[in-house]
Amino acid sequence: MCRMSWPARRIATLTIGVAVLAGTTAAASVATHRGAAASLSSNRAPAANQAAAPRATATRALRLAGKVIGIDPGHNGGNAANPGIINSLVWNGRAWETCDTSGTATDAGYPEARFTFNVAGYLRADLIKDGAHVVMTRNSNAGVGPCVNRRARIIDNAYANVAVDIHADGGPADGRGFTIIEPLPDGPNDAVIGASDRFAATLRTAFLAGTPMPESDYYGLAGLIKRDDLAGLNLTTVPKVLIECGNMRNATDARLLTSAWFQRSAARAMEAAILKFLRA
Ligand code: ZN
Repeated sequence: MCRMSWPARRIATLTIGVAVLAGTTAAASVATHRGAAASLSSNRAPAANQAAAPRATATRALRLAGKVIGIDPGHNGGNAANPGIINSLVWNGRAWETCDTSGTATDAGYPEARFTFNVAGYLRADLIKDGAHVVMTRNSNAGVGPCVNRRARIIDNAYANVAVDIHADGGPADGRGFTIIEPLPDGPNDAVIGASDRFAATLRTAFLAGTPMPESDYYGLAGLIKRDDLAGLNLTTVPKVLIECGNMRNATDARLLTSAWFQRSAARAMEAAILKFLRA
């Protein structure tokens, strides 16, 4: 997602003179998606599942009982076909940025939105088995948005104990690896900076242990970077990081990112990090 956000940031900077007008458009766009976003929640039936499950599963289900986990699968399958909505500007806490982007894709055309939604689905299923209540920012890959500020609000309003924004990057073809993006303090997120940093470190360790994806060799330092230009991190009031799970424009990373095996592994690594973070 990062490569896609640079031009967006430049546009936001260059068009500051029309920011007020653009803000009006953005507000309408958010309202358009509110109905869809309002229904985006999840499981309510861990108790019923436990009753019918084998003993090992029942024991596992206790691990996240009472916890709320936010998952934001980046982008959406219908974004590219709806530039009028996606290019509207929303306030990200520090500046105007576009409602969303279409996301990146592999050279063969496998879209980032599909990758993020698949991983989110695996992660959601794993967390539900752990007894968690899962809140997703979207529950299909055929829609548009919601806008990035609305995604943040969905998770904030659920009072999630921890949350993850799932993405994959569109970096240089010779660059490999994952990067975890951490928030910088800007007001709304001040209270969750320390916890987000701890979650980032935990997720980094879990991703290295649980997947074959290396730390990025072109972006961030040792798999970590802080940014202040992303609504999902600027506006968060719960501990949250954004993970670029690999580089879709690199052939080796693309082979991993498009495989169901890797997608499940990435979800399990996120689950492991969530478990460790919430037990600490
Ligand atoms: Zn992305």
